[in-house]
Amino acid sequence: MNRKLPVAVLGATGVVGQRLVRRLACHPWFELTTLAASERSAGKRYADACAWRLPGEPYAGLADHPVVACDAARIDEPLVISALDAAVARELEPALARRGAFVCSNASAFRMSADVPLLVPEVNADHVDLVAAQRDGGTRGAIVCNPNCTTTVLVLALKPLHDAFGIEAVSMTSLQALSGAGWPGVASLDATANVVPYIGGEEEKVEEEATKILGALAASPCVSIRASTFAISAQCTRVPVVDGHTEAVGVKLRGDPSPDAVLAALRAFCSPFAALELPSMPATLVRLHDANDRPQPRLDVERDDGMSVHVGRVRRCPLLGIKFIALGHNAERGAAGGALLNAELLVRKGFVS
Ligand code: NAP
Repeated sequence: MNRKLPVAVLGATGVVGQRLVRRLACHPWFELTTLAASERSAGKRYADACAWRLPGEPYAGLADHPVVACDAARIDEPLVISALDAAVARELEPALARRGAFVCSNASAFRMSADVPLLVPEVNADHVDLVAAQRDGGTRGAIVCNPNCTTTVLVLALKPLHDAFGIEAVSMTSLQALSGAGWPGVASLDATANVVPYIGGEEEKVEEEATKILGALAASPCVSIRASTFAISAQCTRVPVVDGHTEAVGVKLRGDPSPDAVLAALRAFCSPFAALELPSMPATLVRLHDANDRPQPRLDVERDDGMSVHVGRVRRCPLLGIKFIALGHNAERGAAGGALLNAELLVRKGFVS
């Protein structure tokens, strides 16, 4: 690439936004040109608007950069990465797409819209062609979404098994990190030494998003996604972990393969989209752990810049056939890094240049 592409980040002061700012500060293709947040932050220096919570250089070197309001008429970058809450995203993101921007959204607002690709590039990069359906409607740009963070971890662990055997049913219980709730997030009196057995809307998101992502792109009569038909049940809990969602997964696979066959499939897995060579793709996508007490969020989740998914304790399940533990970084793989991968995919596919 001869020059770097200008990129705007919406919600730049939040948990996900800060990680986007940090990633973009050293990105080979992109240059962060606009930091946007709410009216509360607009007009301030980034350092005055943002409660920076990441290790390393504070504010990623952008302490003096001005923060602007999320005004669709004034944000003119061709690529916009949105780390906004769903309610704000619902208004703003279509306005940006209408004026020609490609919006990579972390929010849930449009994930299940029939013409919006819900992308984890190593799993379903081909679904990006769905943006054609949005542009048929007269929109010049488009919205693409990354899934809920819990869904992202789950589909990355399931993809090798879906390809090798075919999935018939999935049961997943999550132990989700506090950072998944944004900043300041869950009240400390609720979070400390406790488990909160409810995260509003989360279980429904996981159940519907996973079948869309692991579905197939159909070309006729129009470009659309045919969702997978496996049964899926999710239970989601919040635990006192800072970063990293752990998931206890049970899965029923066609042909009832042994744990050894499942391990072999996981070990042999190579993303069908690895040849895209997107800069934020990790060299090893699924890291297998042999030790019975791994993976653990504190020990494993930061590996590979938080972009790989960890799988351990693959064993026989008396109910579904196979069970295992998966772990992934909610705010990196499940949010900032995932959205950035989607932006890279749009460039690689020639939608944005
Ligand atoms: P957060 O820490 O609460 O940050 C929210 C951001 O949105 C802040 O920059 C805030 O700016 C801005 N904002 C709030 N109200 C606004 C308004 N009316 N207009 C414009 N900007 C506004 O949230 P987060 O955890 O980063 O999550 C951001 C999005 O990513 C959400 O949709 C969330 O569901 C999704 N997500 C999060 C995670 C995770 O692990 N945290 C994972 C996957 C997806 P101010 O600072 O000015 O208020």
